[in-house]
Amino acid sequence: MNTPTQQTLNSTDTPPGTAEETASPAASVRDLNVSFGAVHVLKNINMMVPSGTVVGLVGESGSGKSTLGKTLVGINKPSSGQVLIDGKDCTKIHGKHRQQMRRKVQYIPQDPYSSLSPRRTTGQTLAEALDPHGANPRKHREAITHALEQVKLDPAAADKYPHEFSGGQRQRIAIARALILQPKLVIADEITSALDVSVQADIITLLQNMRGTIDSAMLFISHNLAVVQQVCDQIIVMNHGRIVEHGPINAVYNNPQHPYTQKLLASVPGSPTFTLD
Ligand code: ADP
Ligand code: MG
Repeated sequence: MNTPTQQTLNSTDTPPGTAEETASPAASVRDLNVSFGAVHVLKNINMMVPSGTVVGLVGESGSGKSTLGKTLVGINKPSSGQVLIDGKDCTKIHGKHRQQMRRKVQYIPQDPYSSLSPRRTTGQTLAEALDPHGANPRKHREAITHALEQVKLDPAAADKYPHEFSGGQRQRIAIARALILQPKLVIADEITSALDVSVQADIITLLQNMRGTIDSAMLFISHNLAVVQQVCDQIIVMNHGRIVEHGPINAVYNNPQHPYTQKLLASVPGSPTFTLD
């Protein structure tokens, strides 16, 4: 699938010499290793997310996808290597500057039921994202309304509590909370996995429609390769903490090079390598 909107944002289509081509990637990672105690989870990772693009990160459960996402946000600490956000090495920035850097990367977790505080209205949640020390929904009314519009929610949602929303609506609020900070990079970690199939489709359509209107790049983590094909420009395939393949989405789907990618794609209906056995 290759809609015109996907084409316009695809970095490979950027004419040479334009500002976009010379802009720093939203995020890049060099020789990154992450360990938890004696367990070496991420092994020599090199990757980048070009500004304004959506990069899919796939691989089976336990391969290290969330660990990579959380390292980009600063939740996990690298054992070695560099994490550059908007061209700056996060591992070398401290104090107030570090907090500013943190705002440039936002993480949307999988479960929209546990990620929103049940005691805060949507407006309070969004105001808190903007201003952790003095959250005041009235002061940020305009930004809140705009963020809700971006995710196709009524402005009246600002005065409601999480229990008044469906799972899909809650996930829209979580997306709005990430976007309201106008980050360079959004990490979407399995954000459709906890939702019903029809609601998943709504969120995917939302992401597709948002593409022309937001500047943030996205790392879209998913184990669903059919979904990844619908929203991403590029794909990174991870296996046991290593990147085994990285390329433009159509090139990888039509002609996967690594046996592990071939195996993953062989189970996706509609992919060129799909088999029924
Ligand atoms: P994925 O998101 O691809 O399913 P994860 O990144 O969640 O994989 O996990 C990769 C591996 O790292 C797993 O073996 C997991 O148990 C381990 N791991 C992840 N986070 C931690 C942690 N905070 N402490 C210890 N081990 C962890
Ligand atoms: Mg995960």
